[in-house]
Amino acid sequence: QKAEWAKLVNEPTVSKDGEHVELAANIGTPNDLEGVKNNGGEGVGLYRTEFLYMGRDELPTEEEQFKAYKAVLEGMEGKPVVVRTLDIGGDKELPYLNLPKEMNPFLGYRAIRLCLDEQDIFRTQLRALLKASTFGNLKIMFPMISNLDEFRAAKAVLEEEKKALLENGVEVSDHIEVGIMVEIPSTAVMADVFAKEVDFFSIGTNDLIQYTMAADRMNERVSYLYQPYNPAILRLVKMVIDAAHKEGKWAGMCGEMAGDEIAVPILLGLGLDEFSMSATSILRARSQISNLSKAEMKEMAEHVLTLDTNDAVQEVVKKATSME
Ligand code: PEP
Ligand code: MG
Repeated sequence: QKAEWAKLVNEPTVSKDGEHVELAANIGTPNDLEGVKNNGGEGVGLYRTEFLYMGRDELPTEEEQFKAYKAVLEGMEGKPVVVRTLDIGGDKELPYLNLPKEMNPFLGYRAIRLCLDEQDIFRTQLRALLKASTFGNLKIMFPMISNLDEFRAAKAVLEEEKKALLENGVEVSDHIEVGIMVEIPSTAVMADVFAKEVDFFSIGTNDLIQYTMAADRMNERVSYLYQPYNPAILRLVKMVIDAAHKEGKWAGMCGEMAGDEIAVPILLGLGLDEFSMSATSILRARSQISNLSKAEMKEMAEHVLTLDTNDAVQEVVKKATSME
């Protein structure tokens, strides 16, 4: 099986009925690029920049960040690279910021909330990204967006930094897409409105499931509630994809669900454009998609959206895709 998959490394991702989707990789550092190449990643769908900030005693400088972003953009040779701005907080702490302990860190001061408040940190990162933008196909993504004001504020800061750089004669790409993670239910519900202003969505199911089901993603005792195929999740995912397409935008997914064997047929059927996953899942997913008809999966997806439970959906997908 592995040998069969290996043949797909340099192949596009095409369904049995000839429909293309993009399989991208989630990375944490420029060192991960080798794995992306070896596994046939068509892009980077999520570059988690937190690692630049973690395991050290102070914030990374603009120059350090610029080097890392440039390395990833150059390394991907013009293929799309979605860089997520700092998503610290929740399960990812930065001791040197000396933030007060919170009762509910997953619902607290984190990610874009922190960045819009501590703008020096945010602006430094954005400048590093803008300077690196001419070295490849950069797309910038804001994490944990919960409402339109946040997106508009973040985008305005980005525009300010871009304008300042241009005024100082620094070259900046003029076709950087700016999008958001959809990982908070309020944003999924408002996707039709967001879609008019963002360039793309990437659905972060790791958090979207946790927040929709009110089940801490780190807590074993409630892990039975962590239900990716629950129709509640699938309906939100559909809303996001449909909203994007209605405005001519693209929708991706960068949560674990994007590479999940049961979820992939549903997501293909719902029309997801980009699937971003651990590099080691890409060839398996490409092989799976090559054996699926998107038209048939569309019908299946419409059906599973009417089912009542996570298990019911799982069963139907297994039968429909002859996994049992
Ligand atoms: C997500 O929430 O689905 C996601 C991709 O981000 P992270 O796992 O880094 O929170
Ligand atoms: Mg997340």
